[in-house]
Amino acid sequence: MEREAENRPLKLYFLPFLAAGHMIPLCDIAMLFASRGQDVTVITTPSNAETLLKRKSNNHLHIHTVDIPSDSPQIENITSATNIDSAISVYTAAMLLRQPVEQFLRENPPDCIVADFMYQWVSEIANTLQIPRLAFNGFPLFAVCAMNSFSAHPELFSGSVSEPFNLPDLPHPITMHARSPEGIFRFYEALLKMEVESHGLIVNSFVEIESEYVEHYERTTGHKAWHLGPASLVHASNQQKSERGHISVVSENDCVSWLNSKQPNSVVYISFGSTCRFSDNQLYEIAAGVEASGHPFIWVVLEKLEEKGSKGWLPEGFEERMKEKGMIIRGWAPQVLILDHPAIGGFLTHCGWNSVVEGVSAGVPMMTWPVQADQFYNEKLITEVQGNGVEVGAVEWGVSGYGERKIVISREKIEKAVRRVMDGGDEAEEIRRRARQLAVKAKEAVREGGSSHRNLRELIRDLKLLRDSRSAN
Ligand code: UDP
Repeated sequence: MEREAENRPLKLYFLPFLAAGHMIPLCDIAMLFASRGQDVTVITTPSNAETLLKRKSNNHLHIHTVDIPSDSPQIENITSATNIDSAISVYTAAMLLRQPVEQFLRENPPDCIVADFMYQWVSEIANTLQIPRLAFNGFPLFAVCAMNSFSAHPELFSGSVSEPFNLPDLPHPITMHARSPEGIFRFYEALLKMEVESHGLIVNSFVEIESEYVEHYERTTGHKAWHLGPASLVHASNQQKSERGHISVVSENDCVSWLNSKQPNSVVYISFGSTCRFSDNQLYEIAAGVEASGHPFIWVVLEKLEEKGSKGWLPEGFEERMKEKGMIIRGWAPQVLILDHPAIGGFLTHCGWNSVVEGVSAGVPMMTWPVQADQFYNEKLITEVQGNGVEVGAVEWGVSGYGERKIVISREKIEKAVRRVMDGGDEAEEIRRRARQLAVKAKEAVREGGSSHRNLRELIRDLKLLRDSRSAN
């Protein structure tokens, strides 16, 4: 007979990394645990705490603030960094959180800490204090398996950057057209190694989108992965969706009424996530490409530093011509609110995993344009495994998402990808059908009895048993 765990709520700490792409999903996951009656605390810095407290739906979470020792950086979240140097300063500040986090854990030990893999030192603290640790990296398991495949085959780094190659040992034949800069790869590789020493890995995805990879990961690493997502589905109302993350520069009402004026599936949503800032040249090509496609659009362009000598990033008269057809959001957009609107018919995305899984949950086909990190792998999950999107043709794997790149993606490529998804025809219909099918599975996963719903229940039970056995010893 299975042992029953004591029913007292778990005391759980969540330690998200200081970047929207990490913090948003981990706080959503924290909310999932809180919604099942667990006692959940998010540990973060003062300005991030302030942002979190502005979300009404966060009122089930306790927030514990820790100050960054030494000279505080001007900004405490990578999303506010407009160049690589300020992004690095936030990373450095995040690493300094070790001391205040350790002190808090010593004084108030939880039953488990869920920490972003960027904080490598959490593993040492958790081992010393004998606190169970769950890891989180923000990637889909597919990307982790792809990275592990690279690790096992160092010869993959010796090929020419422009030559396509296959990723060995994976459940599907995957052809890559770009490879990670080796330094960046080694950085992630070291973090992934620490992860497998944790009690388990939490994944913001659902089993059905990568089921072969769950089996593959657990068999090849001996480590347990818990798919609990899509976590963004924890937000049901428009208000909750628009409050997610940072404060949006457009109101929920303006966004929804603009979208209400458009036909179903007619609008392209264009966003490159929370850190990527393209050069003016590249933005200009996006504007020209989307105008040439003839489709309505919402285009999110984050604030960036002015470029010296630039003639600007919009073609002459663009905004006047696109007055009815296009909305440019200069700054933070309520992404999930937009994606979930029936007028959205396609998503031109950088393939950050949150964006992908949010687009999948909304049933929106994608035009993929990866820039860095896990994004080139995520693209392949869409275009080669699931078939719910088409590639724009990006092959330059950046060290970061900031600034000038060697290759500017042309307006023709952008127009072509948009038309392939938005103009109709057999290929577009099939992609749309697959996108819809995946959305049904995503939503089923988080419903009572669905795979993520069950996983969360089992994980809570597992952690309670662990707590009981530790207190018995
Ligand atoms: N996001 C948003 N509004 C924006 C930009 C980003 O709500 O204007 C959210 C988006 O919904 C996602 C996260 O920020 O949840 C970005 O994470 P992702 O993994 O897509 O990309 P990253 O920013 O980490 O590159």
